[in-house]
Amino acid sequence: MMVHSELSFPLGPPACEKDSKALQFIEEMTKNADAVQERVLAEILRRNSDTEYLRRFHLNGATDRDTFKSNIPVVTYEDIQSEIQRIANGDRSSILSGHPISEFLTSSGTSAGERKLTPTIREEWDRRQLLYSLLMPVMNLYVQDLDKGKGLYFLFVKAETKTPGGLLARPVLTSYYKSDHFKNRPFDPYMVYTSPNEAVLCADSFQSMYTQMLCGLIMHEEVFRVGAVFASGLLRAIRFLQLNWQLLAHDISQGTLNPKITDPSLRDCISKIIKPKPELSEFIIKECSGENWESIITRIWPNTKYLDVVITGAMAQYIPTLDYYSGGLPLASTMYASSECYFGLNLKPMSKPSEVSYTIMPNMGYFEFLPLEQNDPALSRDSPPRLVDLANVEVGKEYELIITTYAGLCRYRVGDILQVTDFYNSAPQFRFIRRKNALLSIEADKTDEAELQEAVSNASVLLQGFNTSVVEYTSYAETKSIPGHYVIYWELLVKDPANPPTHEVLNNCCLAMEDSLNSVYRQGRVADNSIGPLEIRVVKNGTFEELMDYAISRGASINQYKVPRCVNFTPIMELLDSRVVSVHFSPAVPHWTPERRPR
Ligand code: AMP
Repeated sequence: MMVHSELSFPLGPPACEKDSKALQFIEEMTKNADAVQERVLAEILRRNSDTEYLRRFHLNGATDRDTFKSNIPVVTYEDIQSEIQRIANGDRSSILSGHPISEFLTSSGTSAGERKLTPTIREEWDRRQLLYSLLMPVMNLYVQDLDKGKGLYFLFVKAETKTPGGLLARPVLTSYYKSDHFKNRPFDPYMVYTSPNEAVLCADSFQSMYTQMLCGLIMHEEVFRVGAVFASGLLRAIRFLQLNWQLLAHDISQGTLNPKITDPSLRDCISKIIKPKPELSEFIIKECSGENWESIITRIWPNTKYLDVVITGAMAQYIPTLDYYSGGLPLASTMYASSECYFGLNLKPMSKPSEVSYTIMPNMGYFEFLPLEQNDPALSRDSPPRLVDLANVEVGKEYELIITTYAGLCRYRVGDILQVTDFYNSAPQFRFIRRKNALLSIEADKTDEAELQEAVSNASVLLQGFNTSVVEYTSYAETKSIPGHYVIYWELLVKDPANPPTHEVLNNCCLAMEDSLNSVYRQGRVADNSIGPLEIRVVKNGTFEELMDYAISRGASINQYKVPRCVNFTPIMELLDSRVVSVHFSPAVPHWTPERRPR
């Protein structure tokens, strides 16, 4: 039933009374973006005015934009690392925030190989919760009757540790799923999930995935939407089904639970759900035993209306595979967020992947934008960077996002590059362009050029005994198979052809590279199984020269030519692959523990 006229809700008529409040809030925030930003900045500066950090820059209680902009520097994580380390070590004084730091959120961005630690405060959950509460009211504008079905969402918790000072350090979503906001959420017919909390909260990734899939299969006709946080997570679930459908079908036919599920609370919970359903089991066997897995999602969950997964940024590489498994269902990327701050939402969640834009909600933090143009005076060395306010960005331009948060990050560079596509009321909408410096990514991992270089040079130490060196290399994120994996092309100089490196040594080079990649990569390999073994493809001598010839034939300048450290252009890949002389895979998993390396 529509309860309001379209006139008062430009986005469309709300599906229910509760939605109308959310849509009204979006209108208010976006109509007054600049005023809200001014108020948010003043609020942040007022409450943090006595912090060591703000005192250092002599704000003297000022809460206006001009004083803020002229006194406070733009920083990276490394610039404030010593403050963060003091908090981690147990210093409870007001260093960055006037409110007590409740825990650290570990981002998938790394510094010196370890996840960055983001200090957060308890009340930040209210803001995150507020953003979450806007998602369904927007979705209900585009997809009807979502209250009549359930969501099959594959959600997982990850390892958590404590800092030396005793604060928890864990990913933001792990913190969320373990919080009362998630565990004791009030019933909402639009947010009914097939996965019980016990399955989401089980730290063992196999047991968690198995039981979430089992519940999704049992309730297959009730499922109206299928999702995961990122596209890669949903594809891992499909891969899991490919590998485990026989066990799942067996449990469903017998009403039993596989003995690999050992977590007592999980066994207890699932045993109340599972009953023998031989017909459903037959159906699953029929659908899964064939070679052809095209449209498997809509075959098994026939009422699915859309997939709810982020497909922007590094996840765009998974769109064709998702299309294949879902028979082209709409892909909804609903929100844009980070450990440091939740930013905003997609007001047109059914739009095509290439048209997805996010509207930053001006109440979430104070946002500034560093223009990216080459010749912009903002980038000049002599003058400090000139940052643009949220309401003043220009359509078509690209910017780096800089945030100031309630938890105490001031003019902090997140590392994301965004392009303004349009405005909704006075709030800009952004296309996510890329993460700065990220070369390779399969899931949450991001490997930059320096990390790749370091990994290659560490691995090539193993070649010294064979009088061999790596003369050139490039890389590629292979994501056609699930889980995806890194492929590194190596051209070798073997100085003693009678004694070339053995196959085994080159396999070990793969592992040596993995061992020197950052902890998010290694966690993906070891704990989450979200990344497959690293592969080295050795190419014939002269291949990289051919690569250069090819680039020059397409207009590159000889003087300025640099070997690309990551490739994804089909003709280049074809050239490289046609010159491969041997292929090697990592023979084991790299070293990883949840503990951070001591600093
Ligand atoms: P983390 O620091 O691990 O919380 O990851 C946050 C980062 O993930 C953001 O800064 C973005 O680079 C990326 N990210 C989050 N949401 C999206 C999205 N909707 N589209 C593209 N990238 C995203």
